[in-house]
Amino acid sequence: MSLLTIDGVWKNFHGHSVLKGIDLEVRPHEVVSLIGASGSGKSTLLRCVNLLETVDDGTIVLDGVELTDPRVNVDDVRKRLGIVFQSFNLFPHMTVLDNITLAPRRVHKVPKERAEQQAHELLARFGLEGKARAYPDQLSGGQQQRVAIIRALATQPVLMLLDEVTSALDPQLVTEVLAIIRELKDSGMTMILTTHEMGFCRDISDTVCFLDGGVLLEKGPPEQLFDAPEHPRTREFLRSVVHSGRF
Ligand code: ADP
Ligand code: MG
Repeated sequence: MSLLTIDGVWKNFHGHSVLKGIDLEVRPHEVVSLIGASGSGKSTLLRCVNLLETVDDGTIVLDGVELTDPRVNVDDVRKRLGIVFQSFNLFPHMTVLDNITLAPRRVHKVPKERAEQQAHELLARFGLEGKARAYPDQLSGGQQQRVAIIRALATQPVLMLLDEVTSALDPQLVTEVLAIIRELKDSGMTMILTTHEMGFCRDISDTVCFLDGGVLLEKGPPEQLFDAPEHPRTREFLRSVVHSGRF
């Protein structure tokens, strides 16, 4: 039984197809990574799942609900998803605590006291106790991204979408963010992530998907995809990654 089923999804921008019939199933607790060159469609696919983009063809079903049905309630869908981007997108004028409790209070109608208690628990779990009253610009990039991940978790999503969440960070700050994602996996969170950190991708993924020009060219367990890729394009991409020192 899959949690998310993407079936024949096409997405066009200005007459140009950037997703060309994507099929993908994600099981509960599975970690699926999307890899591929810049422009291959990874972010667009995540944005389609989160309804930040509408699809031109195909269906996406989350937990029995067809997201691509035009009658779907977008807010209800987004309530069940957590998404984190490369740029942390924290509200600069709000404290860490207010950033984290905003959606639970406003969207999910969680009482203030309970929302704040949950926020404090999450901050403690991810090593940020003591930062509740800080403003984003008082934190390092790694800390800000950890807060952004906590903020996405605060609404108890059934699926987390992580789009290059370490790409904007200095190398020494990447590790602490990857550690959070590891902890999320260990706690059973279902995730789809895109990353340039191939070592981490190999380590954390149950399934790795290689996208090439909007086509999901190859997918499999990390050992298979990294050690015995079937498609010449996958081999070429992995060679270029090794070359650039990212593996
Ligand atoms: P990736 O995340 O793999 O780098 P993207 O999904 O961001 O790739 O982009 C895939 C293609 O879609 C690229 O050619 C990009 O220029 C194009 N694209 C993405 N978003 C838009 C948009 N809002 N309008 C027009 N073209 C877009
Ligand atoms: Mg992208």
